[in-house]
Amino acid sequence: MDKKQITNIEVKKNNRNHIFRYICKHETVSNPEIAYATKMSLPTVTQITKELLAQGLLKETGAFESTGGRRAKALAVDADARQAVGLDITRNHLSFVLTNLTGEILRYKRMYLPYITADDYYHEVNARLEQFLDEIGADRGRLLGIGISFPGIVDLEKEIIVDSHILGVKDLPFASVSRFFSYPCRFLNDANAGAYAEGIRSEGAGRFFYLSLSNTIGGAFFNHGGLEQGTHFRCGEVGHMTIIPGGEPCYCKKRGCLDAYCSARRLSETADGKLEEFFNRLRQGNEEYGTQWEKYTAYLAVALNNIHMVLDCDIILGGYVGSYLEPYLSDIRGKVAQRDTFTDDSLFVKACYYRIGAAALGAALNVTESFIEQV
Ligand SMILES: [Zn+2]
Repeated sequence: MDKKQITNIEVKKNNRNHIFRYICKHETVSNPEIAYATKMSLPTVTQITKELLAQGLLKETGAFESTGGRRAKALAVDADARQAVGLDITRNHLSFVLTNLTGEILRYKRMYLPYITADDYYHEVNARLEQFLDEIGADRGRLLGIGISFPGIVDLEKEIIVDSHILGVKDLPFASVSRFFSYPCRFLNDANAGAYAEGIRSEGAGRFFYLSLSNTIGGAFFNHGGLEQGTHFRCGEVGHMTIIPGGEPCYCKKRGCLDAYCSARRLSETADGKLEEFFNRLRQGNEEYGTQWEKYTAYLAVALNNIHMVLDCDIILGGYVGSYLEPYLSDIRGKVAQRDTFTDDSLFVKACYYRIGAAALGAALNVTESFIEQV
């Protein structure tokens, strides 16, 4: 194959991809509309959409009103032509999300299942996954694979979970997990997965930091369409940045880490382990919870200011605590502004869009996205 041929193939592939993504983002479109928006010729667009229709990735949904000439066909993505499952593993729970080519959450399920380092655990996860697919009547032939979100350092090059303090896992090869499932698996760190869901959803999100405030704290840096992984796949692990030297003990065996002050557990442990209960009582004006919340947000503001000083970008608050934060955002922003050397404007602190299932969804979107890249 000569150079010119390769280039032509690449151009065609890019065009197909560009058109498919455009249709995924718009409900119903016509060939002339796509040609106008993508600046491609009408014959090129028509040829490509014909191929995508033949592949079953698009469907005709009727025709647009005539504007003089022939009525243009109405085209839409066949969103459910391919689906993916996201699986979020945490110390005590397991969550599943089923998504499709447009990234909808078609189904979400969370259950209690404490992690144990044994084959039995993964046999059980697989059984529950198959049960989940049965319950929702999923067509397994459409399933691209499963995305697995793991709370630990996930090395995508060596294909191992290097370390998960919270699960007591070290150097776990992806293959030793994926062998329990009947579908191809892709792995992602939990905070990265949450960030991925937030970032892929929004066209405007060029750069942001995602702070995952769950029972452990994680973070991820989303930069122009992708995740920054860092040299050792530890980018964004702000749960272990020191907030108070020699302070409270952290589960990582050091002292004074952010995790020891701002994990969801700091709040839930005062409310019988129930985070929802903590926020209920806080809303009812309980003084003790108010004091606890003041302390929590003061430490959180230190972390937010520090992250912002390094990255100078929006910070999205996610994880279990993130899903309750909307009513308290202005208070948190106020505390961050007090620390900021350069500005009083702390609108860069934002609440997450996905309040439930973000990590599972992000892991699933990692699967659908790798398919869309190849369209
Ligand atoms: Zn720590």
